[in-house]
Formats: sequence, C-alpha cells, structure tokens
Amino acid sequence: MRHDLEKRFARWGLASLVAVVVITGLVAGQLEAFERLAVWTRRHEQYELDELFVAGIVAALVLLVYSVRRSRALAREICRLELAVTEAKILRALEPVCEDCEATGELCGSCRALYQAPVAV
Ligand SMILES: [Zn+2]
Repeated sequence: MRHDLEKRFARWGLASLVAVVVITGLVAGQLEAFERLAVWTRRHEQYELDELFVAGIVAALVLLVYSVRRSRALAREICRLELAVTEAKILRALEPVCEDCEATGELCGSCRALYQAPVAV
C-alpha cells in the first residue's frame, strides 16, 4: 500500500517534470527566447554569459548521471533493509525471548507483545 503510494508520487513527479520541460520549450519557442538571449549575450560579451549555457548543459548531464547512480544505490539499500527485516522476523520467530517462554513453550504476555510489534529498521 505504502509502496504503491510512493510509486504513484514518483510517477506524478516525473510527469510534472516532463510537463514543465515541454511547456517551457513551447513558450521559449513562441518567444524566440534563445535568439533574444543570444543577441543579448553578444551585446554584453564582456560578462561571458554565453559560457553559462555550456556549463548548464554539462551540469544537467552530470546531475542526470548523479541521480541515476543515487537511485540505484537507494534501490540496493532498500533491498538490503528488506532482507534485514525478513531476517529479523525469522530470528524473532525462532528464538524465545525469556526463560518463562522457553520453559512453558508458549509466549508470555510481554514476549507476545514483542512478537506482534512491527520490526523497526
Ligand atoms: Zn516470554
């Protein structure tokens, strides 16, 4: 349930980003934004503002690579944590917590409460 909600948010986030890029491209095309910017930067060449575009393109590519690598690392970490939770659940089911439970073979009240509590990560 929670994963479905997170996936839905992620899809909406990506769709929103794509929409912003498309709308920006359409508006920039209508306004001839780059041509105006090119003329303006030619007039003010002393500020070297045109070099910012090259740096911006490189920054976008670097950020893309960085986000893909971080996303993969996050996926690996999620797998590792899910495995740890599974192992904790198995260990909790196999080992009695107190001597009373061990002697009687049944769960006492405090151990039952512990077993029924969600495994914290
Ligand atoms: Zn017990």
